[in-house]
Amino acid sequence: MSERSRGYYHKQKETMSRKRREAYLTERLSEILRYGYKHSEAIRSRWDALGLKPQQIRSLKDLERLPIIKKADLVKAQKETPPFGGFAVLEKKGLRRIYMSPGPLFEPGEWDYKDTRWAQALFASGIRRGDIVLNTFNYHLTPLALMLDESLQMLGATVVPIGPGNLSMQIQLMRQLHVTGFIGTPSFLMSIVEAAEGMHLDPKKDFSLKVAFVGAEMFPESLREKLEEKLGIPVRQAYGTVDVGCLGYECPKKNGMHISEDVIVEIVDTETGKQLEIGATGEIVATSFSQVFPLIRFATGDLSYLIEKPCPCGRTSMRLGRILGRTDQVTKVWGIFIHPWQVDEVMAKFPMVVNYQVVVTRKDYLDQMVVYVELKEEVTNPIGLKRRLEKEIEEVLKVKGQVEIVPRGGIPDRAKKIDDRRIWE
Ligand SMILES: [Zn+2]
Repeated sequence: MSERSRGYYHKQKETMSRKRREAYLTERLSEILRYGYKHSEAIRSRWDALGLKPQQIRSLKDLERLPIIKKADLVKAQKETPPFGGFAVLEKKGLRRIYMSPGPLFEPGEWDYKDTRWAQALFASGIRRGDIVLNTFNYHLTPLALMLDESLQMLGATVVPIGPGNLSMQIQLMRQLHVTGFIGTPSFLMSIVEAAEGMHLDPKKDFSLKVAFVGAEMFPESLREKLEEKLGIPVRQAYGTVDVGCLGYECPKKNGMHISEDVIVEIVDTETGKQLEIGATGEIVATSFSQVFPLIRFATGDLSYLIEKPCPCGRTSMRLGRILGRTDQVTKVWGIFIHPWQVDEVMAKFPMVVNYQVVVTRKDYLDQMVVYVELKEEVTNPIGLKRRLEKEIEEVLKVKGQVEIVPRGGIPDRAKKIDDRRIWE
């Protein structure tokens, strides 16, 4: 069977024109809206309460009229109507698995796993038929490891279902079985590399790895550089959630995460739920086409932005940019939203700053923002530096803040990047 016909790699689909793509997604959307309204009690009752019918949603833009489902809504619905909150559509065949994720949240696992999005992502990362892949995601209760396991089967790759932990066993298997692919979190891959080095091994020579596929946590470029250098292989990431599956994946060109054809991803204003223009930062909201767990406009709680510029790899899908943080880390000062990633952006321009913390307080009904910074070493002109930092903060955050330089260790370990100490009475 050719790769094209196997289902996970549709060259024709991945290179659709923009117009064709929009038509395709609109059609899939209308299908899932009708299906969800007909079969999912939770979806039907929510829309009925708003007087909405699936036929009224005719375009991707119309999606804005439908309510957003937050994770907390799902948790609440599941408590009221266990186990799936009325969202799941149970097939005659029954369920193969019931998963549980932090929340607690239950997810139905379909009898035949047919979702090809993770397989598409694994393929784009470079994993191929015949590869031997160490799957270090946790196989217990949460679905990610098993979804990837099934997807590796679609690709024709062999899985070593080791799960996380036990570094020496990971290293031993990696060598004995000539493992060619790694799947797991980037920080765990780094732990393996460090442990191998501690055993006087050179991961570049002593491992047979040719590709690593990472996800499930933030992946700073500095960590990618380190891993790629130490392992001598490409390290590619994908992004998704256990509820709505894979939402974006990197290709060999690593410039953003391609959005699969089989999901709708919106970037919305966290307050209004309205779609934002391309390039603007907002919350990632996804509509999956799952027939077992259809989630329409599920809010992930993660912040990112869309990239439209064509990718040299040939795939024509929109891409998600970096994941910039969580919506719940956001703080409002003087009525303006402040995100930790914005402060990171400011500090990246000042290499002498090694640590910082933003503290927001309130005095006489007025917000006060103080940014504490620790420096690598003393500078000759601290007042000048303070002024430059304050100017940059105002420019990027659009809010005035006062900068205080504190001695090394002056900011407590594990302190919140933005500490909101206002008391609302
Ligand atoms: Zn690409």
